[in-house]
Amino acid sequence: MTRSLPDLVPHWIDGARTSGTSSRRGDVFQPATGEVARQVALADQSDVDLAVASAAKAAQGWAESSLSARSRVLFAFRQLVDAHRAELAEIITAEHGKVLDDAAGEVQRGLEVAEFACGIPHLLKGEHSEQVSRGVDAYSVRQPLGVVAGITPFNFPVMVPMWMFPVAVACGNAFVLKPSERDPSASVRLAELFAEAGLPEGVLTVLQGDATAVNALLDHPDVAAVSFVGSTPIARHVYARGTANGKRVQALGGAKNHMVVLPDADVDVAADAAVSAGFGSAGERCMAISVVVAVGDVADRLVPAIEQRMAALRVGPGTDPASQMGPLVTRAHRDRVASYVDSGVREGARLVVDGRGVAPTPGGFWLGPTLFDHVTPDMEIYRDEIFGPVLSVVRVPTPEAAIELVNANQYGNGTAIFTGDGLAAREYQRRVHVGMIGINVPIPVPMSYYSFGGWKDSLFGDTHVHGMDGVRFYTRMKAITARWPRHHGVDLAMPTAAQH
Ligand code: NAD
Repeated sequence: MTRSLPDLVPHWIDGARTSGTSSRRGDVFQPATGEVARQVALADQSDVDLAVASAAKAAQGWAESSLSARSRVLFAFRQLVDAHRAELAEIITAEHGKVLDDAAGEVQRGLEVAEFACGIPHLLKGEHSEQVSRGVDAYSVRQPLGVVAGITPFNFPVMVPMWMFPVAVACGNAFVLKPSERDPSASVRLAELFAEAGLPEGVLTVLQGDATAVNALLDHPDVAAVSFVGSTPIARHVYARGTANGKRVQALGGAKNHMVVLPDADVDVAADAAVSAGFGSAGERCMAISVVVAVGDVADRLVPAIEQRMAALRVGPGTDPASQMGPLVTRAHRDRVASYVDSGVREGARLVVDGRGVAPTPGGFWLGPTLFDHVTPDMEIYRDEIFGPVLSVVRVPTPEAAIELVNANQYGNGTAIFTGDGLAAREYQRRVHVGMIGINVPIPVPMSYYSFGGWKDSLFGDTHVHGMDGVRFYTRMKAITARWPRHHGVDLAMPTAAQH
């Protein structure tokens, strides 16, 4: 069960909770009621300096720890997260608003990255070539970077931090996490569990804050690398500023994910997928489907099937087990998403289902599932990332036109195709300019041992997160060429045939 959350969400520095030196605070809401539930400390420059200094000190000792020692701590952490699934899910729901099932699902996906990181002794193995020249061997090793930082978005307050820190820490780095200020409590709990698992003080730091903390981390000379996940404008900023300061940066941005439905697809399967991928977590997922691309005449069957399922979707507080979709994260975000519904109507799309009147409890940040048909690529609701429960149907004549549409879009995070035609699916998978592709799978989030990342404006940098790309991002490689001359005349060389 959830321990009650404190009135002030603290930082986690030097292995302890602290409210820091800054007096700046941010409000954290309960999205289902609209009330301010608590406040979060917002770091200023001196908090950032303390956090990075603590991490830099810890990084030295941690980098010297053995691989089996690191692996043991990760196994213990994995067990603790597993044992605290329900508590973590409740913390997520309290601040993000998503239903408890979705929250538990996110804990599971984060846990899988910790499980991947438990295998660090295997993952860090280098390469070795014997006898590249007579008496000469060549080999490679991967070493940690030192202090690395992670800046994460509100929509997965457990999973996205866990995409990063288990791998970074397993590689021998100290990690400074700057979570979203909108749902900051889960990170502190994760840090406590990692400490309980035996992680030394300072190896994982949680620094609460906003743009001030982010920019201070991007400018800090002792931060070697930055992983960022969030919206595209901020990802672009983080990438530009971090790399200008000589840091290694991976910055994952926003998305506009298309689900292509070919005329031969099973319409019931596709409609189920569109509803769960469009409205799950109120559409606040970077892999949510926001555009259904209906090819040929399939829309005439698909749109009514989606509409019918939407009527049965139960919107309500995330803590109510009957709810299938919760509120949006803040009032400002809710109002922004609702303004896109107004814009779609203004621009002439057909509003099939209007979620604007849905409000199951007073004061909450509610917007019901919304469906537009006959959306065209010039409309704002098609062009912009809405990040809410608004699904658009774009009708195109051919599979070729679907590929052109997807490739012309500025984003390239995820996409899915629904069809029974293997060749058409193969052609789609080969030709779309998108990082993660589902074939009859609406949300193709890669498993932890693959890597997660998009193309185009969905990723700045060249390594994806977790999986082997994560190991590569959080380590530097050395290539060694070695010759050992005979030592003090002692001949330990292999005996010759004559000696046998
Ligand atoms: P956001 O970009 O507003 O915030 C992300 C992080 O950046 C937060 O920690 C925030 O404090 C910080 N930040 C905000 N404004 C900043 C500024 N001006 N300067 C420096 N730092 C700043 O994103 P969000 O609203 O928290 O999350 C939703 C966005 O994240 C969506 O665009 C979604 O697509 C994206 N997202 C992408 C992925 C992915 O894997 N590509 C995954 C999850 C979310």
